[in-house]
Formats: sequence, structure tokens, C-alpha cells
Amino acid sequence: MSKIEVKPDGTLVVPSNPTIPFVTGDGVGAEITPAMQQVLDAAVQKAYGGQRKLDWMEVQAGGTAYEALGTYLPEETMLAFRDYHIGIKGPLTTPVGGGIRSLNVALRQGLDLYVCLRPVRWFSGVVSPVKHPELVDMVIFRENTEDIYAGIEWETGTPEAEKFYRFLHDEMGVKKVRFPETSSFGVKPVSREGSERLVRAACRYALANGLPSVTLVHKGNIMKYTEGGFKRWGYEVAQREFGEALNSGKLVIKDCIADAFLQNALLKPEDYSVVATLNLNGDYISDMLAAQVGGIGIAPGANINYATGNAIFEATHGTAPDIAGHNVVNPCSLILSGVMMLVHMGWTEAASCVEHALERSFAAGYATADLAPFMPEGNALGTREFAEHVVSEIMNSNE
Ligand code: NAD
Repeated sequence: MSKIEVKPDGTLVVPSNPTIPFVTGDGVGAEITPAMQQVLDAAVQKAYGGQRKLDWMEVQAGGTAYEALGTYLPEETMLAFRDYHIGIKGPLTTPVGGGIRSLNVALRQGLDLYVCLRPVRWFSGVVSPVKHPELVDMVIFRENTEDIYAGIEWETGTPEAEKFYRFLHDEMGVKKVRFPETSSFGVKPVSREGSERLVRAACRYALANGLPSVTLVHKGNIMKYTEGGFKRWGYEVAQREFGEALNSGKLVIKDCIADAFLQNALLKPEDYSVVATLNLNGDYISDMLAAQVGGIGIAPGANINYATGNAIFEATHGTAPDIAGHNVVNPCSLILSGVMMLVHMGWTEAASCVEHALERSFAAGYATADLAPFMPEGNALGTREFAEHVVSEIMNSNE
């Protein structure tokens, strides 16, 4: 076992055989996780000829963990992700009833993974509902720990909701709650610190990857202090810490109101590159953009803390119980999340091997049943057969 270490400035020191904790995941996780591992292993072998190797270490979470251990998120899993810094996970069943609301949220909050990173690009051959999906090439930085998603809310009819309303009414002079007797309440914390670290990460990413702009997406016209604060703090941190790049034109920072952004992203997606936004906006925007380039089965994602070096890469779709066990699920969301993981580790040669193999496969019409029927020369393969096809593309390429 070999641990990835993190320097004080957050950069990673990656050994040649790093231990990577992984959660197989529930439902289709049992199909997409082995497919992802097979493809990544082949790419690492191809790129480094045996000099480097991923040392997979399984950890438990989700429904399978609950059945085996009586808990959805064992402490050992949290510790493994913390200690080994980088991990990957399949989709998890959301527990029903009390306790943890969402395992993904628990992991993000427990490890303070403040960036939800979603690159969105189109692969030639993949069907899309828009005329020019090739113009969509964006990287979304969604704030992961604040906003209305912080989980601070009270249900109507409870003593807590009543107490909260009384505080608003009696002590804060708030008279604007239209139906106080039947209202539930939620709190939307947005901080300068939280906004700054998110926008800082977005600007660094743009500069490191030679990308032209960072757009702050917000609803500051209505929510002046929360979303408006995000915008103001975003501009301030960009000017303070990246002033030279802004002044020289190397990086442009701009902003867009969320509803206009949703229109513009459809009408002129080429105007946007890196997008930095709050938690709820980011949730909507990521899924809309994913749909624009071919949808749920191929959108990758990661949750990252650039200061501690902790990162969890994940399938962005759910457990897909309706198709689980039928060898039809598309493994590309998790495979492409694995590609993001390789890039994050600095193993870019292996990452390119996978990306190029997928490009060639889609261009030739090889895909799973969710995509193949819509391709001109579509050739539907089962999950296992698709993974094998991608592996052979990797091994037989001249890269
Ligand atoms: P889902 O994403 O599992 O499925 C929605 C639809 O998309 C289904 O018809 C499914 O068959 C299809 N689909 C999803 N992924 C696909 C893929 N890779 N290839 C082909 N088709 C695919 O969403 P859901 O049905 O709302 O949720 C099911 C469970 O997953 C719930 O317990 C939910 O809480 C959980 N969930 C987990 C995550 C996560 O762990 N990141 C995310 C979303 C939902």
C-alpha cells in the first residue's frame, strides 16, 4: 500500500502504485465499477508499461454497507477517503427515513469537499438535443458546502418552525411571511470565505488549463446579500489574487444572472468556459449542460478540497434500479470520472489514452444501449462488452 501525500500548499505527491479507496456502489454500481477499473488499469498499463499501477482498495458505503454492517456510511470508509486523499465511488442508494439525508452530502460535508467539479464536453457521435453540441465545452465549479443545501430547515407545524417564525417576527421585525401558520423555513448561508475559496479554485483551474474566462453565475439581483455577496466576493478575490492575469487579458472574469445563463448556455454556449456558482444553481446547471451533450450516462464529476488534497470522484447518476443487473448500463460517467481522477493525480498520459479510446469508440458507433440506437452507425454493446471494446481500443492504439 502506498499513500498519496499532500504538501502544505495542497499539491499531491503521487507514488507509482497509489492506493485508491473505492466504493462499488449500489444497483448498477456492481456493473460500472469493474468496467471503470478494467479501463483505467489498461490505460495505466499502456501509458507507463508497468512502471505505474493503481492499487485498488474496496471500502463500504450505501445499501450494501447497511446490509453487511448495519450502517450506511462506516467510519472506516470516511477515514480511508481522508487518509488516502483520493478515492472513487459508484452511485449510492439514498437512505429512506431518519439519520443521514444523503450519503453524498454526508461525504462532501464530512471531508469539506467544497468544490463539485463537473466538466461538460461533447463526444462526436453522441446524440444531443441541440444543433451544435460541439460548442459546449465548460467546466462547472459548484460550491458544495453552503447555500440552501446546508440542510438547515424546519418543517411546518413543528415547534422549531414556530420558534423560528416568532424570532423572525418578534425580534427581527419580519412581516413578510405570507402564510406563517403553514410555512416551512430554510436558511441559506453564503459566506465570503466559502465564496472566495470556490472562485479562487475556479480561477486557478482556468489559468492552469489555459482557459479564457471564469463566469460567476448568481441571482444577486434578487438575493442581494447571499448570491449578490457571492458575486461581489468573487470579483474581489479574482482582482486581489489574479490581478495580473486579469489585467494582461490572460483571464477574463465576468458574471451572469442564473436565469439568463440558462438561456445563454443553450443559445451561445461558446461564450462560457469555466463557470463558478452557488450550490443550488450549480445543481441545475450541471444537469442541464449534461443533457445538452448526451445526458446522464456520460457526465462525470468530482468533489474536491484543494487545500487538504481530498477528492472523491463519482458517477453523477443514481443507482438506476430499473436496469441494474441487465448488463445494459452505460459505464461512461464513472469511467470519465476516473479520467478526471488520473488528471488530478498528474497521470495525464493514461487519462488521454482513455479519452481518445472513448472518442474512437463513439465515432465508430460503439456504445451502450442508451446511446447506440441514436447513432448513425450505432452498434449497441452490453456494459461488459463495451468496457472490453474500450480496453482493446486502448491496447491496440499507437499512442
Ligand atoms: P437514476 O440516475 O438512478 O436513474 C434515472 C434514469 O436514468 C433511470 O431510468 C435509469 O435507468 C437511467 N440511468 C441512470 N444512469 C444510467 C446509465 N449510466 N446508463 C443508462 N441509463 C441510466 O435516478 P433515480 O432513479 O432518481 O434514483 C435511483 C436511486 O439512486 C435513488 O436511491 C437515489 O437517491 C439514488 N441517487 C444516487 C446518486 C449518487 O449516488 N450520486 C445520484 C442520484 C440518485
